[in-house]
Amino acid sequence: MGGRPVLRFAPSPNGRLHLGHAYSALINADLAGRLGGLCRLRIEDIDPVRSKPAFTAAIVADLAWLGLRYPEPVRVQSRHMAEYRSARDGLAARGLLYPCFCSRGAIRAAAAEAPGRDPDGAPLYPGTCRGLDPAEAAERCARGEPHTWRLDMGRARTRDPFGYWAFDGDGAGERWVEAEPALWGDAVVSRRDVPTSYHLSVVHDDAVEGVTHVVRGKDLEAATSLHVLLQRLLGLPSPRYHHHRLVQDEEGRKLAKSRESPGLATLRDLGVTPEAIRARLGL
Ligand code: GLU
Repeated sequence: MGGRPVLRFAPSPNGRLHLGHAYSALINADLAGRLGGLCRLRIEDIDPVRSKPAFTAAIVADLAWLGLRYPEPVRVQSRHMAEYRSARDGLAARGLLYPCFCSRGAIRAAAAEAPGRDPDGAPLYPGTCRGLDPAEAAERCARGEPHTWRLDMGRARTRDPFGYWAFDGDGAGERWVEAEPALWGDAVVSRRDVPTSYHLSVVHDDAVEGVTHVVRGKDLEAATSLHVLLQRLLGLPSPRYHHHRLVQDEEGRKLAKSRESPGLATLRDLGVTPEAIRARLGL
């Protein structure tokens, strides 16, 4: 691959950071140091409702308290919508995407008859809009009817197997993992409200930022198959991947921002030190 290793920590500013984020941020920084590379911070704020600038500021402050500083400029996804739109339009122009006008309720109802689930447990899209007459679909888009853009998995997937290199937490131990993007069905590549999705933005940005090693939680491992497919379709290089364990709370449950889990700010206010956080995380 050559060049300097580049890693990234990419939180979404829709809440405060908890121990799980601290773990991810710290192992990214530690590995960047061991590899003689650098770790960037990226703010993944494409969700216009859930993302709040105040959370971004708090995230930066929490990371600084942990002793983590990042190179400037920090990439903020909401400022790059035009790039995502153009990547999306390129895929659509090649017939790899189609507009989908189905409401969530309609998808749930249709999926009740064909109860397939994607790796996140959401109903697989039954393909209702895949066969729409292209002229009619274009006209509905032009009229401003709300729609997402879905990957036509049957067209997008190549026949030959492909995959990515996965590495151990220490940066070594590479193994080849075959991608299984079809498990996601016709995934949404561009949402109703913004001209992108987590999947499209993350793949585009990893390439723009020259990311060579992606270190993120096991909860995103299945999504990597989709990301590798998008990289192939967009002609982008694939980084290497490591999916780390998820930090659990005292009762062995996954930490989530939605549940009451100790935020770093709360722990700091209780007098917990960054060193104690590292120790609690086994680092
Ligand atoms: N923004 C994502 C999150 O907060 C992480 C994305 C990634 O690391 O690929 O879960």
